[in-house]
Amino acid sequence: MDFQGLTGKVITPSDKEYQILRLEYNRDINKFPLAIVYCYNNTDISNAIKWCKKNDIPLRIRTGGHNYEGYSTSNGALILDTTYMNNVEIDEKNDIVKIQAGARLGKVYSELAKKGYAFAGGTCPTVSISGLTLGGGIGLSCRNFGLTADNLLGLEMVNAKGASITANNHENPKLFWACRGAGSGNFGVATSYIFKAQKVSKITIIELRWDNESMEDFVELWQYWLKTADNKISCFAGFNKEGIYLNGFLYGTKAEAKLILKDFLSLPNLLKNSSIEYVAFIDAIKAISAFYDPPNKFKATGRFVYKPLSRKDLRKLVQYINNSPGIDECFIRLYSLGGAIDDIPNNQTAYYYRKAEYILCITADWEEDEVSYEYKNWVEKVFRFVKPLTNGSYVNFPYAELEDYGHEYYGKNYYPLKEVKKLYDPTNFFKFQQSITL
Ligand SMILES: Cc1cc2nc3c(=O)[nH]c(=O)nc-3n(C[C@H](O)[C@H](O)[C@H](O)COP(=O)(O)OP(=O)(O)OC[C@H]3O[C@@H](n4cnc5c(N)ncnc54)[C@H](O)[C@@H]3O)c2cc1C
Repeated sequence: MDFQGLTGKVITPSDKEYQILRLEYNRDINKFPLAIVYCYNNTDISNAIKWCKKNDIPLRIRTGGHNYEGYSTSNGALILDTTYMNNVEIDEKNDIVKIQAGARLGKVYSELAKKGYAFAGGTCPTVSISGLTLGGGIGLSCRNFGLTADNLLGLEMVNAKGASITANNHENPKLFWACRGAGSGNFGVATSYIFKAQKVSKITIIELRWDNESMEDFVELWQYWLKTADNKISCFAGFNKEGIYLNGFLYGTKAEAKLILKDFLSLPNLLKNSSIEYVAFIDAIKAISAFYDPPNKFKATGRFVYKPLSRKDLRKLVQYINNSPGIDECFIRLYSLGGAIDDIPNNQTAYYYRKAEYILCITADWEEDEVSYEYKNWVEKVFRFVKPLTNGSYVNFPYAELEDYGHEYYGKNYYPLKEVKKLYDPTNFFKFQQSITL
């Protein structure tokens, strides 16, 4: 293949780094792209788009490579990777930050923290700002500040013609609307984002742990508690055969946290390694980041919960966990929503499921390929059980097996999104397994 015309750093199968650089965070994805082009600027991106068109080669856009189903790669495709465009520029006078598309969350948080700002991002330090924002972005600040995408003031993109464009409330407003919840890989290559930034000093980090006795009670309490929980608190919780965890940030003091969480603190068998601490924002981020293991093979997906699951359904869910394969590899995880997220109407951005109370996530990870079928089958079984009890799926927790994915990810925003697709990508150049179709 002749790679003439591509600029930036081009990695092909004959380069020794190819075998590592072709991998996604999910090591179960094992694809062999034609080449990878690391872009340093908009011209490199534009050249990659034109090269793909000229040579009739499919393009995949990648940054952090954390897409669960590997939608940022494909056999025989050119991967356009924006990793090296990763500046974080803070404008303290206006409390805004310009973040280039390649920045990982770890860098975003630490640069902002140096100037005394928090950020409404996710919890994993190696997820990139791009996939996170373009799909919505939930985290331990989302009930307080909204989704990552809700804090977005505008973005820059290279479109299907290879031209640089800006999208905000004044320029290309429909594209801006679409990129807040449905922008990943669908309309163009995002190159930078402008966000509001929030000044903060200390917050309270919550890390509570229980043994595996009270799973049903825990989820019942979680559902009841979330209905009236203070917007200043956001939590990610979960349970497996071994036990239960609840991690959270409260934009308030330790005493307030203890009061807000008093019902959780009185659940039986709270373990000694539980803690509630008032710390600098960046220390809270670092503590949560430490929760992540190195990349592994996994299958995961999530559903939006609008209506609390009944005690009977919770019992069934716990049975699925108790009968799951392995020792501690299968989890049900719960991500709190509500608060500032549902202050915005469903049609104001492409992110649709704003009235959901939480996301219920089903995850399994493994090491050996021989057992992958068993773990994937478990996720599928639990998914089939949970689906009729819930409404819609979060596009940042994609599931290849999802039927009618357009409506499942975007609800009633799907048809307006198709209109935006027609306007900005009329030849359907930006496509992947679950992209927005014309
Ligand atoms: C360990 C882990 C922890 C996570 N934690 C959270 C969390 O706390 N909150 C949350 O909301 N989500 C979380 N996620 C999900 C995460 O938000 C999505 O996987 C996200 O899409 C990853 O973005 P990425 O750029 O890292 O991945 P990629 O695989 O590189 O990209 C994801 C998607 O975005 C597209 N894309 C990438 N870069 C660009 C670009 N520059 N322009 C246009 N499209 C682009 C890709 O084509 C692909 O479709 C987590 C995922 C993992 C694996």
